Amino acid sequence: MSKRDLLERRALQIIMSKGDDGILQSDLWKELEASSRVGSRISLNLGKKNLITRQRELSDGRWTYRVFVNIRSLDIDSFSDIPCVSCDEILKCEKGGEFSPNTCKIMTKWLHTFTHSELDEETISEISKNDDS
Ligand code: SF4
Repeated sequence: MSKRDLLERRALQIIMSKGDDGILQSDLWKELEASSRVGSRISLNLGKKNLITRQRELSDGRWTYRVFVNIRSLDIDSFSDIPCVSCDEILKCEKGGEFSPNTCKIMTKWLHTFTHSELDEETISEISKNDDS
């Protein structure tokens, strides 16, 4: 994974951890220990991938952006273990792509455990078989 990909992933984790409050870009750069130039590029890239939303905001007399993860309407605490957060393929993952939430077995398995506290043995076996293929 490239340094840029790692920074984007870390940025996404930070933004996700801020929930509905989002985070000012300048604070995000500080947490990332990145320059504003590098940080702005990361933010733009995440925006292009539709992973975050950027909202213009006046802060200390200067226009900047507050950024939010695009799943902010969800209860972030409930989703703290979402597999995408730690997935090496998150930046390549898109509908119809080589990696896609629509076909991701890890995501399917996680959704099942999220929506069903107890899965029946047959379903667990089916998911496990698919993971091996
Ligand atoms: S959907 Fe699957 S492949 Fe895509 S980012 Fe999430 S865990 Fe990774």
